[in-house]
Amino acid sequence: MRDIETIGILGGGQLGRMLTLEAKRMGYRVVTLEPLPNSPCGQVADEQIVAAYDDLRAIGELGARCDVVTYEFENIPLASVRTLETDGRLVRPSGDVLRITQDRLLEKAFVRDAGCTIAPFAGVSDPSELEHAIATIGFPAVVKTARGGYDGKGQWVVRNASDARAAFAEAKGAILIFESFVPFDLEVSVICARGSDGTIVSFPVTENQHDHGVLATTIVPARVSDDIAARVKAQAATVGEKLGIIGAYCIEFFVMADQIFVNEIAPRVHNSGHYSLDATQISQYEAHVRAICDLPLVTPKLFDAAVMVNILGTNSGDRLDGVHELLADPDTKLHVYGKRHAALRRKMAHFTVLGDDVAAALAKAETARGLLSWRPSRSR
Ligand code: AMP
Repeated sequence: MRDIETIGILGGGQLGRMLTLEAKRMGYRVVTLEPLPNSPCGQVADEQIVAAYDDLRAIGELGARCDVVTYEFENIPLASVRTLETDGRLVRPSGDVLRITQDRLLEKAFVRDAGCTIAPFAGVSDPSELEHAIATIGFPAVVKTARGGYDGKGQWVVRNASDARAAFAEAKGAILIFESFVPFDLEVSVICARGSDGTIVSFPVTENQHDHGVLATTIVPARVSDDIAARVKAQAATVGEKLGIIGAYCIEFFVMADQIFVNEIAPRVHNSGHYSLDATQISQYEAHVRAICDLPLVTPKLFDAAVMVNILGTNSGDRLDGVHELLADPDTKLHVYGKRHAALRRKMAHFTVLGDDVAAALAKAETARGLLSWRPSRSR
């Protein structure tokens, strides 16, 4: 068991912020490294190192100040994590896990080899591979950049060869994955946490609704059969085990009739787990802290049905209106991330509504969503 006092977080966004708030409640110091000053995480952490993720001197400084380093998003340079590991620093999840999960091609092959079902896919790095993928996988398909994509960025749904060639041209030489389009009924995800002793706990399976590739709503529990929920949890546990991950992770699935397909792995806390701050006795953030700090992992218990709604910017002002009305409901919790500018589609805040059942929570969430809008700040 490690004696951990200070946790380092690569990344300063809202996931890091919520992770920090939970870690601090549990008595830890937190240092974050993020290029933008006054980041959502930096506002609540003990310290923020303002530096680029590939600034190896700053990365070394983070390692020296912390007993364990983790990350809140997977698009950090692998070399930075490798440098920490070479310096003898503890990084959880490890660089080996990051290497696989930051590359969709490696990740898909890993998941397939772990025995999970995934949509047929092929790697595309030149025109001949593109033509091969068109011939073998067919249409409709989704073309995605193998690295660096998030929230639906770097992604094209293609219905014929000319769409596919246009997507290839638009990607400007980036390595791509050409994947069969899954006409799913719904998308679900599960958050798990795995400790250094191999214990794995899983949160309830959640149902996720997206808008333009960005998560809009998470419904807990997902409206799937017990059998599907059990298979989702079993496959997620298998993947976590085979990866040897230490920490919280999320696996997203497509559900089509009684089939499930793994879509992707996030080796970190995840937007679809925000609800756990208010609806389970241990949040995904606490589970992550417990896992990386060698504390016991306990099974999350859901108090009530829950619906989490992301509040995105609209570029029409930075002040959120309707909070007074929103908070009149005793079953609604609001979480605001401390970002100054509510740029279009930027994740600014979320709320979670609890209800006796999913239908009740969803109805309240829909009403609540309609109460909120953005307006310009008062000029001072
Ligand atoms: P991803 O970045 O892979 O999570 O993709 C973002 C969103 O695009 C997913 O949540 C799905 O809604 C959609 N999507 C991605 N891949 C596929 C696929 N193979 N078939 C259907 N929809 C997909």
